[in-house]
Amino acid sequence: MHKTRYAAAAMAAVAALTLSACGGSDDSSAEGGEGGGEMIRVGIKFDQPGLGYDEGGSYSGFDVDVAKYVANELGYAENQIEFVEAPSANRENLLSNNQVDMIFATYSITDTRKETVDFAGPYFVAGQDLLVSADSDITGPEDLDGRNLCSVTGSTSAQKIKDQYPGVELVEQPGYAECVTAMGGGQIDAVTTDDIILAGLAAQPVNAGKYKVVGNTFSEENYGVGLPKGSDRCEDINAAITKMIDDGAWEEAIARNTEGADYTPNADLNPPTPAPCAS
Ligand code: GLU
Repeated sequence: MHKTRYAAAAMAAVAALTLSACGGSDDSSAEGGEGGGEMIRVGIKFDQPGLGYDEGGSYSGFDVDVAKYVANELGYAENQIEFVEAPSANRENLLSNNQVDMIFATYSITDTRKETVDFAGPYFVAGQDLLVSADSDITGPEDLDGRNLCSVTGSTSAQKIKDQYPGVELVEQPGYAECVTAMGGGQIDAVTTDDIILAGLAAQPVNAGKYKVVGNTFSEENYGVGLPKGSDRCEDINAAITKMIDDGAWEEAIARNTEGADYTPNADLNPPTPAPCAS
């Protein structure tokens, strides 16, 4: 009896600790910054240099900068943001299961994804491209029939190859960095995803001089802010994105995060205007 009661008390204490360590329940995190001390959980990539990158617990990249700006406009200081890794294949689930409040992770707005999640934005437009060896003569996916092309599970990049280039041998990995490693090992002929992601990977010191982005995009990827279905944050996020573009912080963030990478955003499509929020 005594033992049972002690165990119950211990479990309650652990539960309380777990809650505070996670930055609060859904209710508290939805309250915004007014009360002070509330956290907001933001999903980002951890392995995409220049976009979302974990440098030993400090996070950098364009997605991270947009996330910080938007969170600040929503009332959260930088130390009230908890960054959570959001790999391509897990994004919808992280939102549906209430494990994150917003996602900034090179997350393209698509009709299929809109069936399970909401999007604010877009805040950037990229295009699908190929990364190949510096001396390769591959110019597009039509050159890859019967050859090994690596992409990431749960991405629009992998889906596009399955739908439109069935003759290509698609190899799926959990992240693009794994694809580049596989290409370095010789098992892969090319890596495909958004041009800005490929440019960031190619510019990493370990890859210097080894690879090139083909520069022949074959899709339009509108990066949105992923939200749980029915979220009431879309309008405020769109207003924050518009403010970031208008005050020059968007341009500065692009310049800072693509420095040293051979990459210029498509000026016909960037910066984009956020789309009206779903009602
Ligand atoms: N933007 C594409 C997507 O949302 C590819 C990049 C990624 O996997 O994050 O699927």
